[in-house]
Amino acid sequence: MNLARFTPDFPINLFHDILLKSYSFFQIDHLILTKHYALIIESKNLKFQIEITRNPDQLIQYDELGNSKVMDSPLQQLEKNCEWMRGWLLNKGIDLPVFGIFAVSNVNCKIVTKQEEPTIVRASFLQKKILELPRSTEFIDENTLAKLKKSILNEHMEFDQHNFLKNFDVDVKELLPGMWCDVCKKLTVSKIGFKFMCTCGNENPSSFMQAVNDYFLLMKNEMSNKECRTFLKIESAKVTYRKLQQSGLQIQGRGRNTLYLNKRSPAKN
Ligand SMILES: [Zn+2]
Repeated sequence: MNLARFTPDFPINLFHDILLKSYSFFQIDHLILTKHYALIIESKNLKFQIEITRNPDQLIQYDELGNSKVMDSPLQQLEKNCEWMRGWLLNKGIDLPVFGIFAVSNVNCKIVTKQEEPTIVRASFLQKKILELPRSTEFIDENTLAKLKKSILNEHMEFDQHNFLKNFDVDVKELLPGMWCDVCKKLTVSKIGFKFMCTCGNENPSSFMQAVNDYFLLMKNEMSNKECRTFLKIESAKVTYRKLQQSGLQIQGRGRNTLYLNKRSPAKN
């Protein structure tokens, strides 16, 4: 991301790899905070060709031979992060517009979508896109902006993953297994047919990845199929295998020894 040299003629605050807690934890690649809006930028370095579809929400990646691999849609994750960022701000009594952009950093990647997706941009057009966002209204003053900045940095440090359980004095055994429902705010989601449904009838398509991210945050930077099933309370190893393979997480080892790595782990960077 070439944002370090982004110096528009209005003040911006730029954060990288931020971890916050709204309804649950959420992680943001890049966050720009201004008096006019908060902007979440998720970026991926994808090769060759990608196709992003809605209904079903998915990303299909093609290699040079035309082989395809299906992954979770980055747009779905982005929209969720925007919603949670809004919740995080509202919780502090701040009503600030939140925008999201998905930036593809590989210049050679061909991006295919069936419909217009204004939130997808090539990284080279990112600055132009940011300059186009509305700036006619100042929703917060200098003071509030400074406070927000401080809250973000404080919270982020507080949730430093290695100290997380210690900080909150939580024993690993006390952690409840399961997947989170956005409506009930409870761990009441299970896999029914092809869907991740809550007992309340709400479909939670991203509950799987949310729970996997929680695992990485609370436990460690790698998980096996079995550890995933225990933490998420899923019975089927096959279902878990398929979801983990589609997750876009880095994979290490084979067969029974397969481990799925936290994409935020230093190993990747
Ligand atoms: Zn529910």
